[in-house]
Amino acid sequence: MTPPRPPHVVILGGGSAGWITACLLHHRWAARGGRVTLVESPEIGIIGVGEGSTPQLKAMFDLLGIAEAEWMPACDATWKLGIRFSGWSERPGFESYFHPFPGPIDLHSEPGFIRACAAARRGFAVPAHPDPWFLASVLAGEGRSPHPGPQFPFAPGYGYHFDAYKLGAFLRDWGVARGIVHLPRRVVDVALDGRGDVAALVCEDGERIAGDLFVDCSGFRAVIAQQALGGRFISFADNLFNDAAVVIPTPHSGPVLPQTDSIAMQAGWRWRIPLTTRVGNGYVYSSRHISADQAETELRAATGMLDAAEPVRFLTMRVGRMEQTWERNCLAGGLAQGFMEPLEATALHIVIATALEFAQALEEGGFTPANRDAFNQQAAERYEGIRDYIVGHYRLNQRSDTPYWRENAANQHLSDRLKAMMTAWFSQADLAQANARLYGARYYSAMSWHCLFAGYGTFPAEDRMRPLPDGIDDGGLERVRAMLVACAGNFPPLPGVAQIR
Ligand SMILES: Cc1cc2nc3c(=O)[nH]c(=O)nc-3n(C[C@H](O)[C@H](O)[C@H](O)COP(=O)(O)OP(=O)(O)OC[C@H]3O[C@@H](n4cnc5c(N)ncnc54)[C@H](O)[C@@H]3O)c2cc1C
Repeated sequence: MTPPRPPHVVILGGGSAGWITACLLHHRWAARGGRVTLVESPEIGIIGVGEGSTPQLKAMFDLLGIAEAEWMPACDATWKLGIRFSGWSERPGFESYFHPFPGPIDLHSEPGFIRACAAARRGFAVPAHPDPWFLASVLAGEGRSPHPGPQFPFAPGYGYHFDAYKLGAFLRDWGVARGIVHLPRRVVDVALDGRGDVAALVCEDGERIAGDLFVDCSGFRAVIAQQALGGRFISFADNLFNDAAVVIPTPHSGPVLPQTDSIAMQAGWRWRIPLTTRVGNGYVYSSRHISADQAETELRAATGMLDAAEPVRFLTMRVGRMEQTWERNCLAGGLAQGFMEPLEATALHIVIATALEFAQALEEGGFTPANRDAFNQQAAERYEGIRDYIVGHYRLNQRSDTPYWRENAANQHLSDRLKAMMTAWFSQADLAQANARLYGARYYSAMSWHCLFAGYGTFPAEDRMRPLPDGIDDGGLERVRAMLVACAGNFPPLPGVAQIR
């Protein structure tokens, strides 16, 4: 049987979400006659923040067949091996830890780390801080490239930092050159047909842009999914307090490490993201706990910009998700689908996963309610799985110096699944099994969950830790350390600031 002809897709919005979705759907369906039209209003513009990714962005470029040499220089991009969390924990020895992206060498070091955690959870004084156990952490700390020399065929997983405007522009040019139709228009209305499906986008001059499938990537406005179709938004405000951000770029100083820094602040945290041309900084905070002025002053002080003329930019965030990602003939993507604070830089990860899973679901099941419900369930679970991991940072961090941190630590609005993960950790149960049972091990690996708990020093109090008796496995850190040092030598050091410019 010949598969049905793919739909004519009309995407509203030309931010990163719109262009990523456009390129992926065009790539998948163009050869079978699928068409993609993207409508965006240059006057409204894009949000333009969002400078860090997970390895999913690499998977996307690989899928599209776009080489790093082609897109990275065009987007001021650098490599990212993971995220360093600093200042979140007050426990001595745990002031900072690295959350690495997983890679094949972890197969040889992760089991030891998990055994070390098991011993430390029982109160035995063994080295269970995550940093020395993972190749990505070692490479990031030493400022090495994620690309090994030819003798070593085991690259770690990695993502990128990039300029969000330039990434959108790159994908626009790439997509338009391959047949995506780009219409710079302001949409003032959404026309529905007699069944309530979307029939067309109506532009300022009255032009109607019709299609079979509409993708709402109009940002926090959610013009189609919420305004026209009345979709319900589920807020995560009870789980995640941060609802605002202030951003400022700074010039490079010091080494350019392949990592995002996430540094705890009075009422939130700030990111530090190295691009080739500048450093991106942003303070994500709770507007209930500090004012915009206080946030700006704290960010300027932390980045050495107190007396600088460089202006800051403020953003407010709608934290949560649409109840239905796919409603009638409309798919919501990017900020129109939902938003969680960028602590794990997961927004574009979700955009890519949503577009790919949607294309597959539509091909396999068409526009049927059962197919849509199954897809929506999967999308909701992804959101909530990632949210739980982010909430985990706030519950486990051990910082207590301001009302913001104390309220976070006392917050009882946790999902049952996150509570069950915490119970598993504290009752010394198998966390990998719990992750598989509760989340299908789909959103974060057992390694990531162990790093989260261990990285914040979530072990019995220091004065209750006792020497390791004979017969209890300490994970064998010395052997792992020697192996990682030998592996790291295969990865060349990154150029310094002067050379990347
Ligand atoms: C503080 C902050 C930090 C972030 N950090 C990260 C990060 O590190 N990593 C990450 O992956 N993500 C991050 N994000 C999220 C990321 O910025 C977004 O997911 C990403 O930029 C996609 O945005 P978007 O395309 O959905 O929306 P936008 O960029 O807002 O684009 C909306 C588009 O819709 C168009 N539009 C809207 N209304 C109309 C209309 N009526 N007619 C025509 N066009 C219209 C606009 O013109 C624009 O083109 C961050 C977000 C915030 C707020």
